[in-house]
This record gives sequence, structure tokens and C-alpha cells, in this order.
Amino acid sequence: MRYYPVFLDLEGERCVVIGDGKLAAEKVAGLRGAGADVRAIPSRDYRPGVLAGARLVFDASDDPKVNRRAWEEAEAAGILINVVDRPAQCRFIAPAIVKRDPLLIAISTSGESPFLASALRARLERWLGEEWGPFTALVGRIRRDLRQRGVPLSEQTRIYRRLLTSDVRKLLHTGSRGAAQQLAAVISRTGRVNGRVALVGAGPGDPDLLTVRARELLAEADFVLHDALVSPDTLALSGPGARLVDVGKRGGRASTAQAEITARMIELARAGHDVVRLKGGDPFVFGRGGEELRDLLSAGIDAVVVPGVSSAIAAPSVAGIPVTMRGLSSSVAVTTAEGKCAPSRIRELAAAADTLVVLMVHARLKEVTSAIAEVLGLDRPAALISRATLPGQKVVTGTLRDVALLALRAGLEAPATLVVGEVVAQAAANQKPVVDLASFG
Ligand code: SAH
Repeated sequence: MRYYPVFLDLEGERCVVIGDGKLAAEKVAGLRGAGADVRAIPSRDYRPGVLAGARLVFDASDDPKVNRRAWEEAEAAGILINVVDRPAQCRFIAPAIVKRDPLLIAISTSGESPFLASALRARLERWLGEEWGPFTALVGRIRRDLRQRGVPLSEQTRIYRRLLTSDVRKLLHTGSRGAAQQLAAVISRTGRVNGRVALVGAGPGDPDLLTVRARELLAEADFVLHDALVSPDTLALSGPGARLVDVGKRGGRASTAQAEITARMIELARAGHDVVRLKGGDPFVFGRGGEELRDLLSAGIDAVVVPGVSSAIAAPSVAGIPVTMRGLSSSVAVTTAEGKCAPSRIRELAAAADTLVVLMVHARLKEVTSAIAEVLGLDRPAALISRATLPGQKVVTGTLRDVALLALRAGLEAPATLVVGEVVAQAAANQKPVVDLASFG
């Protein structure tokens, strides 16, 4: 580590700024903002000795002679000095700052790239809204109160976690300061807040396709109950304290497993935990999210749904296939080859919609494409997209006559999604996929 980071308490302390320009004025204002006793010295007035008694000095004079003498004087007296734009004559450097007072985030690239530092600052500023200032102050007041009341540290930590995951910040963001304070007071006094379950869509696989809310809930969850399909990279976004539970259903015992999963969520939420139930794609598209939400609500659990990018849309997208397109398709049917969806139902849907998307199709691809061909003919374009947005993504395009065989030859793996319709011909026209994650990455 080239530089050692600290935050200085300069309240009432003598600081000197040498220079006449805008930069010098900025340094004066910044130091005064921190309560320092600042002496601003025009470059021409610098004389050895003016730094006496100072804690900190900025030399923004841009005058090599002044620079050298100020540096020598400060070094001899052990005063921290920063000669602007001369790294060799800096005992400290000034970071880029995200200011959410009293929360301060200082960013340094050790002088390697001021550009990167300010690009990062801009990112953090967008991520951490203005409400983080009053929120930090509120948590600080609560902390002093808890310490004064002798609340044990483990209990304090529970309360801070609750405050962080509660709606307090959202209320501050919308300007409802009173309501935010009330909620914070309830949390800090009772220490108990009911647990919650969020049914969260994880998208088709690539973690970059998670929603912002999904990311935040994952980062703050106590428990993450996830399906087998959710990728390890997505699970890695869970907070360090989160417990990950694989509740992926395994062959044959689907209904028992489902009841167990719901019972587990209810039990965890009642014990006061924040639970994320993470499902591939969107929770309500063949994900049993509907049943889970119904059961949670009827058990009186506080439950929310966070939509996700469904593979029904994402898989065709990454293959360059628009599921609707003027002149080619103005309707889409999404169905599955599993369960109650018999070939007769698939045939009806194929006849009714311009574009047909079939999920959970891999094991029955031949059977399903034959059934659809009875209605649409063997020449209707069809594509199979496997592992969309994941490493090893593969797309096979052809017609209902050959897509199953081509997929077999190409060794396409589950999970895979079938798309049938004239729009599939666009995959070839859109050689460069619309969402080419690799080239955007
Ligand atoms: N709720 C999910 C679908 C669950 S059913 C969603 O909205 O996406 C599981 C089926 O989704 C798989 O059998 C497959 O057909 C499809 N699927 C899921 N992830 C996929 C992916 N990365 N690529 C292609 N198809 C996928």
C-alpha cells in the first residue's frame, strides 16, 4: 500500500493554503468546511516561517520556487504538505469524495488515475442516494441511545441489520422524514421486526441480468433459498452472512418438496429472518411462484415479488430472435412441454399464436416439434437456445423438420428453450445478437 488512509480531525487547527487560483480557493473552502482555522496566503506573500504552527498545508501556488521552499519548510517542521500536482512533494494526497455527510467515502488510485477515481465516484454517487446522509445520522443517534441503555452488542447488531434492510432509507428518499424516524424508533425499541420473504427472479443466468432490487435483497438476506438452475455467479452476490439453501426439486418428489419449501420459508420468516426465494427467470413463469405467494400470504407472512427477466423472452433475444415484429408476429404463446401440457394443447397454441415459446422442452423435443408440425407444417422456422446468457450458450436454428436432430447433433444441453415462428428467420439476419453480452461486457 503506497498511501495510508486516514480521516483527519482538523476542528480549530491551523491550516495553510498557498496560492491565488480557483484550486487554492477550493482547498480553503474544503478545510473551512471541516472546521479548520485556515490561513490563505497569496503566492507572492510566501516567506519561510509562515507555515509555523500549521498541521496541514496545501501549496497550490504553481510557482516552482515557492513549491520547493514550502516543501522544505514543511518537511523540516514535520508538517503534512501537499504540493499540488507534484507527487514527489506530497506527504498526503487528496481522495475523490462521495459526500453523504456524515457518511464519507474516499477513493484513491494512489495517484495512478484521477479519471478512474472520479468515474468510480460517479458510480457510487448514483448508487448511494442523498438519503444515505440522514440515514447514517439516524443510525448514529440510535447507536448512542442503545449504548447508553446498555443494550448488548449482539442485540445492537441485530437492530442495525434490521434498520439497513427496512424501509427507513426508502422513506428518507421520498422525503418522509417523520415516518422514517417512527419506523426506526419502533425497530430500535422493540428490536423485533417480522421476517419477510421476497420471491425474486434471478433472470436467465448471467448475474448482470438481475434487477437492482434483486441484487440488493440478495446482499442483505439472512437466508437464500434457491433453485438448482440459479448460477453460482448469481449466488455469489449474496451477503457474507447469508445462508444459502439449495431447494432445487429433484425427480418424482416435486409436490412434497414444494410443501417443504413453503413450510421452511414460513418458519424462517416467523423467526424474524429476511428470506430470499430465488428462482430462475421470472418467479411467476413456470416457477411455482404463484403457489408460494398464495401460501405465504395465507400464512400471514409479509411477502413481496421481484420480477425477473424470463428465459421465455431472454433466450430468443440472445439468439437475435424478436418474439414480436411488425408484419411477422403480433402474438406470443409461452408454454411448457412438461406436466399437463399435452401435445393437443401445444397444437392449439401453435395454431393460435404467431410465435410459440416452449420451456422445459429438452427431453421431449422430437415429440413436441412433431406435434407442432402437424399444425404449422414441417418448414416452419424453429430454434433451440440452450444455456442462454450462460457460459456455453448455444443456438441451433432450422425448421420443425430438423431442429430436434440438429440440436442432438450439436449436443445442446438443458436448460433449453424452443422458439417456433417466422420470426426465427431473423436470427440469421441478426447475425450479431441484439444482446451480445460478451461485446458489451
Ligand atoms: N421461471 C423461469 C422458467 C422456469 S422453467 C423463467 O422465467 O425463465 C425452466 C425452463 O426455463 C427450462 O427448462 C428452460 O426451458 C428455460 N430456461 C431457463 N433458463 C434458461 C436458459 N439460461 N437458457 C434457455 N432456457 C432456459
